[in-house]
Amino acid sequence: MLTDPYNWIEQSLTTIHKADWYRSVQTIQSRSGAIVQLEGRKVINFASNDYLGLAADERLIQAAIAATQEYGTGSTGSRLLSGHRQLHRELENAIASLKQTEDAIVFSSGYLANLGTIAALVGKRDLILADQYNHSSLKNGAILSGAVVVDYAHADVEDLKSQLVQHRQHYRRCLIATDSVFSMDGDFCPLPEILELAEEFSCMVLVDEAHATGVLGATGAGCVEYFGCTGKTLIQVGTLSKALGSLGGYVAGSTALIDFLRNRAPSWIYTTALSPADTAAALAAINIVQQEPKRRTQLHQNLDTLKQLIAQKLPHLKLLPSESPILCISLDSAADALKVGQQLKAAGIFAPAIRPPTVPTSRIRISVMATHELAHLEKLVDVLSAIAR
Ligand SMILES: *Cc1c(COP(=O)(O)O)cnc(C)c1O
Repeated sequence: MLTDPYNWIEQSLTTIHKADWYRSVQTIQSRSGAIVQLEGRKVINFASNDYLGLAADERLIQAAIAATQEYGTGSTGSRLLSGHRQLHRELENAIASLKQTEDAIVFSSGYLANLGTIAALVGKRDLILADQYNHSSLKNGAILSGAVVVDYAHADVEDLKSQLVQHRQHYRRCLIATDSVFSMDGDFCPLPEILELAEEFSCMVLVDEAHATGVLGATGAGCVEYFGCTGKTLIQVGTLSKALGSLGGYVAGSTALIDFLRNRAPSWIYTTALSPADTAAALAAINIVQQEPKRRTQLHQNLDTLKQLIAQKLPHLKLLPSESPILCISLDSAADALKVGQQLKAAGIFAPAIRPPTVPTSRIRISVMATHELAHLEKLVDVLSAIAR
């Protein structure tokens, strides 16, 4: 007897529901910002990656409109065919200037930047050493490359070293790949130590600066700058869609690396170029990051204030270690996280429950923005205190 070959999909959904892993979208009905309209209700937004509040900045909006008027909505082709505009080059130059690298290349998303770059850099004869908490795009890029992937314990230099001792000699090239700020935890990779090991064992290093660009370092260049590693040879990947308020991804590094990626990264060669609007908005954002350091200062002040308020009023809250604007409250189960997420929303706070399979343990994830006001942070802590009681 033949079974319906699609039946398993509904069964699989039932399993997802039973585990409290089921997810669905929520509609925001206003411009992005510290306060948003979420499904008909005004809420304070602690769920956004728009750390500097640039996604609704009038200058980005006007830049996107002007670029659309000039070039149209679509870029009409891949970069190597008909998609390239001078704006793309200007954006790449601006990224290289922010990162203090020789060159940069923009992709249609950060996800595609990781897929294409990892697949271009390593293959079947090579080894990838990956932090176990790496972002999905790094993990899938590693799979796509066909290289042998060995995970090391999260941010654990000792474990990375012992994996290198054990495996490095059996492979041609080796790539160490890691988030710089871990997207679902908020802590940092031990970058200086990783770079030392890379030198000792002749490995390339790829760091994903998605949550660090615009946020960390004196000029907003990211974790590489924060750790004083500017100018070291490494491969920096990132996104234009978080602190830069637009859409797209990038790789920054040496002239040879970028030239190579233009010839070998499939997710750059065989996809349509970034739209004029996204490109122009990202370019405007980088100018603001470089010219208005006070936004970054305000973000870090807000973060300090929130941490102080939590220490005073919620000393028993289980916070995961973090030095970035991502703060996570650890909870025992997916069901608990969902419940707290719903209680927060009912009280006018938008902070999502993050559950397996995205992360190993359930949590409420709070993102602080430069545009949060003191009253927003106080309200968050008051609501959390009420829930704790
Ligand atoms: C968000 C994110 C990405 C993906 O970037 P997009 O531009 O949204 O595709 C990649 N890596 C990390 C660490 C991220 O947090």
